[in-house]
Amino acid sequence: MMDIDLLSLFDRSCLDSAELMAKAALQKNRNLPIGCVIALDGRIIGQGANAVIHPQYNPMRHAEMEAMQSVPCDLWEQAKDMTLYTTLEPCIMCLSTIILHGIGRIVFGAHDVKGGGTAILGHLPPCYANGGVPKIVGPVAPERFDKYYALADRMFAELPCAVNTQNS
Ligand SMILES: [Zn+2]
Repeated sequence: MMDIDLLSLFDRSCLDSAELMAKAALQKNRNLPIGCVIALDGRIIGQGANAVIHPQYNPMRHAEMEAMQSVPCDLWEQAKDMTLYTTLEPCIMCLSTIILHGIGRIVFGAHDVKGGGTAILGHLPPCYANGGVPKIVGPVAPERFDKYYALADRMFAELPCAVNTQNS
């Protein structure tokens, strides 16, 4: 864990934006309260909110996947210089996609005790590991973001995929 005060002002403003996405996911669309933004050269170039439950069940629509899909195609060559900010430690699907496409840095708010993807970092196949594992900073503010995780965890238990995990 690290102190959020050690992050730059821009880092903290990006985390604020990710938190707004998480709140909107829950309050506006009744999805899991998880939000994400992606930044490059001091500006936000992508953002996403969890959309797994509404408008219809879609297992792919994690906040990080939504944010990566919103990044303009011509910027991907600069992936190493991007930072992905997410309110919750990425799952293995999202973390794998982040690594495969070379995003250089991840900052996350809360640790995902049950499903956090960082558990796989020591076990990557060569094509992932050789590309360089992103710098991972987090959990940076559990006192602020753990409440979203607790709620997301309860909502996850109601999803079809929960029967296939120890989360049911
Ligand atoms: Zn995910």
